[in-house]
Amino acid sequence: MLFGRRKRKPIKIPQKDVAEWKYTTCNYCSTGCAIEIGLDNDGKLVTSRGVADADVNRGKLCIKGLLEHDLFDSPGRGSEPLLRSSIHKGFETVSWDAALDKTAEKIKEIQAKYGRDSFAVVSTGQLLTEEFYTLGKLVRGCIGTNNYDGNTTLCMASAVSGYKRSFGSDGPPGCYEDFEHTDCFMAFGSNLPEQHPIIYWRLKEAREKRHFPMIVIDPRVTMLAQWADIHLPITPGTDTVLLNSMMYVIINEGLQDNAYIEAHTTGYEEMKAVVMDYDPKSAQKICGIDEDTIRHVARIYAKADSAMSIWTMGINQSTHGSDGVCSINNINLITGNIGKPGGTSLSITGQCNAMGTREWSSCSGLPGYRFLENEEHREQIADFWGIDSEFFPEKVGLKQTDIFPAIETGQIKGLWLVATNPLTSMANQARIRKAMEGLEFVVVQDVYEDVETVEYAHAYLPASVWAEKEGCHTNTERRVNITRNTLPSYGNSKPDFQIFNEMSTRFENSKKIVFPATPEGAFNEMRELSKGQGRTLDISGMTYDKIETARGIQWPFSEDTEDGELKGAQRLYTDGKFQTPNGKANLIPVRFFNNNECPDDDYPFWLNSGRIVEHFHTRTRTGKIGNINKFSPTPYMEINPDAAAELGIESMQYVRILSRRGDAIVMAQLTQRVSRDMVFIPFHYHDCVNRLTLGLLDPYSRQPAFKQCAARIELIDQKEAAKLNLERRTF
Ligand code: SF4
Repeated sequence: MLFGRRKRKPIKIPQKDVAEWKYTTCNYCSTGCAIEIGLDNDGKLVTSRGVADADVNRGKLCIKGLLEHDLFDSPGRGSEPLLRSSIHKGFETVSWDAALDKTAEKIKEIQAKYGRDSFAVVSTGQLLTEEFYTLGKLVRGCIGTNNYDGNTTLCMASAVSGYKRSFGSDGPPGCYEDFEHTDCFMAFGSNLPEQHPIIYWRLKEAREKRHFPMIVIDPRVTMLAQWADIHLPITPGTDTVLLNSMMYVIINEGLQDNAYIEAHTTGYEEMKAVVMDYDPKSAQKICGIDEDTIRHVARIYAKADSAMSIWTMGINQSTHGSDGVCSINNINLITGNIGKPGGTSLSITGQCNAMGTREWSSCSGLPGYRFLENEEHREQIADFWGIDSEFFPEKVGLKQTDIFPAIETGQIKGLWLVATNPLTSMANQARIRKAMEGLEFVVVQDVYEDVETVEYAHAYLPASVWAEKEGCHTNTERRVNITRNTLPSYGNSKPDFQIFNEMSTRFENSKKIVFPATPEGAFNEMRELSKGQGRTLDISGMTYDKIETARGIQWPFSEDTEDGELKGAQRLYTDGKFQTPNGKANLIPVRFFNNNECPDDDYPFWLNSGRIVEHFHTRTRTGKIGNINKFSPTPYMEINPDAAAELGIESMQYVRILSRRGDAIVMAQLTQRVSRDMVFIPFHYHDCVNRLTLGLLDPYSRQPAFKQCAARIELIDQKEAAKLNLERRTF
């Protein structure tokens, strides 16, 4: 097959001889596309394709999904467990028993010497749900440390926190089909065409059939903003001001839904009192959107028969992340836009199974959205697992972003990192490196042995990837989908599920707790735990075969669902009943305070960061796939042409960008997408943007503000820049 324009060199895609197709779910982003991977007659993976009858993607995939089959034998795969006595010495290849014995011995030694919580575990949003559940069982039930978190604190913690504060529980209430019903669509800090291309395609298709207004709030002219009817280039970090001001207009003009407010919410008067301080005349000076536009979008949103809001990291990665989510929920509650077709607050999740970890990993509580703070919940899980409920702590321990400061102060002495790479992903890298040096024992469990964090590891456990394993993901719209085990594990690597199971046998409580031998066994435990507890998260009616037949099922899907029915609930809270003690949603008063590091004379640019379509997170996978990496192998920075001219910067020239934390070398890309006082750098590259970021934390979610800090730019000798980038391994 040939395509491409005539005078350009065409890309040639060779024909593939596929003997068998196997069903899986994409292992990159949270869209949850169903993929079939094609094996040839020798059982070798040769191609990937979207599943045509899967409702999520309807046969389509983005570039990452299309080339996902290339990752199985990509460079840097870990094939053998490794151990070393010091990070200054080389690794030795060891047996699995030796690596697991040593790791368990060191965990116990550190806990005996410094206390149970002195050993921390940080996992990911990339494992399969059964693996999360098993890891939670191991950490909460056997190891017994309370300092256990997922890297989802870097991406979705504010959404979780905001949902819990407003609705009494986590769980996105809407679905992709809402695009087909909505009369007004508003997106905050969400660049769907690059971050979630297939969700964007669903939105675009819905708008082609029936035009409805699209309002995009983003400091940058993103691809989504380019398609918007109205783009609001907001001052970074001030979304709560805009939302309060929109609600000021709605309430003062009597556009709120009084019947819904009365029947289904509490706290209206308190919230209204705060909102009345945000008249558009005053608000415009803070959020940078003129008063007429604030009134205009408020009226459009409130007058629509149904209106929906989506958001991603532009809201979550802020010191006001949790408040921002509550504000979005507030505006939807006072306009009666929760739980109805086209009316919702839909957080667009980041990683493929960030939802799975939220639901079942026990990171932020206990399985199935249970709370450690709730005695009944502790007893339910302790009884089910067969241990004493006193073994559980009574409140959640440190989040990932608090674990690193606790390493600095000596509170934490050992760390187990599972499929996460803080040496690239955490803000203020110089501080993270220093903290890592202070640990007595670090174990890294990852698919790749060349992941940057392995530099600090004493033990490395090679994990299998994606279709080398079997289990489920949950996507952004609460759809559980399955990945079938298609290939044997690479080398001597093992599925994370098996690693956790084998590790558990080295701890005393494993004599009491049963760890099922298969992922399906763990899934059945989760089904049992989700049954009829009055919570929304009910998967008791699902089985692996039903999930595959339906191409994914949304929860809740209870065991009472009629035989043959394969469709779960599309929306939550359709009856206006929430997961709070009184069944009503909370309207939360939100006040803005400006604690961002804003541009000044010394550091005159806002530094913004985000994702680009061809890469995923810290490029551990996409950086290894040639046909993906070639689109953007070099760290770059978007800068406005006027700002570049003032500084004497030309297109494609290397520059040094500096903040109060450090510096990075990037290639300048001149574009009007960013304003004159802002630059944007993709966050994927090692030793790049997170050398600069400050990462102040949200007080509720502990999520870092990756997107708001100040920077300045200097010219640099081009040869020196290229040399520095090579030394820092940013390419
Ligand atoms: Fe995978 Fe997301 Fe691309 Fe779909 S949109 S193929 S889930 S990366």
